[in-house]
Amino acid sequence: MRKTQNVIVCTPKSLPDHKIVDAAAVAVRINPANQPASHLMAQALAGAPPTPARIALLVAKRWPSAGVHLTVGFLDNPASDLRKRILLHMNAWAKTANVKFTETKTDPQVRISRLDAPPEMSGYWSYVGTEILSIEKDQPTLNLEGFTMQTSEGEFHRVVRHETGHTLGFPHEHMRKELVNLIDAKKAIAYFGATQGWSEAEVRQQVLTPLEEASLLGTAHADPRSIMCYQIPGTITKSGQPIIGGLDIDKFDFAFAGSVYPKSVAKGAALRVRPHDLKRPTSKKSNLRK
Ligand SMILES: [Zn+2]
Repeated sequence: MRKTQNVIVCTPKSLPDHKIVDAAAVAVRINPANQPASHLMAQALAGAPPTPARIALLVAKRWPSAGVHLTVGFLDNPASDLRKRILLHMNAWAKTANVKFTETKTDPQVRISRLDAPPEMSGYWSYVGTEILSIEKDQPTLNLEGFTMQTSEGEFHRVVRHETGHTLGFPHEHMRKELVNLIDAKKAIAYFGATQGWSEAEVRQQVLTPLEEASLLGTAHADPRSIMCYQIPGTITKSGQPIIGGLDIDKFDFAFAGSVYPKSVAKGAALRVRPHDLKRPTSKKSNLRK
């Protein structure tokens, strides 16, 4: 049902409720700048109780600005030509950013699957940034439903680079009013409720609130051709046509990635996640818990 017009678009993937608070604490520990400024947080929480889960949703999931060097593994053992091709497109971000994805068979941090079932695991998706650290080691963090060597080059650009953007910590943050206006609110609430378990309020916040109101972390500008431009399946648009979004990393994306993970900062000092990063300091934890 996501295959209207034979185009699959990215379905936002969010952590299950019971992991949200701990994952936010990990994100802040890995990069303290993930904590939103207090005035933005107050603005976002206005009129609602500041529960730990609501606060956690406002925390960004970026890796340290020193760079992102992550290992990648494949859960369904594709042939080496396909593995290489996927890695090549993931590393397209390295043109301007201190980003490096390296294949490994041992305990990979990014785990790629090509599932077409069950519905909540199928399609194209990735968890965002440091969220991948909260996923069980035998579970995928990024899905490329049905990708093969026969998949067109255009789809490798549109999909693999977009999902890799999520893995780098970039959400769908270039959402514009004219896109939101194309969405059927009722269908969207039903769809994301069924596929993501989101409440109506969450769907309104994540999908139905245009950028001007939703842009809490202050991106520089809205770029409708961004590779991270929101993608929407045809099943929830008023017209039945999917919103495909950007087709490739554009110059603004490249500049943005280069500013978040600058190449000049530290050669050889890029992040390597160590087990102690995942331990929960009791003080932080209790701050975030009820
Ligand atoms: Zn996406």
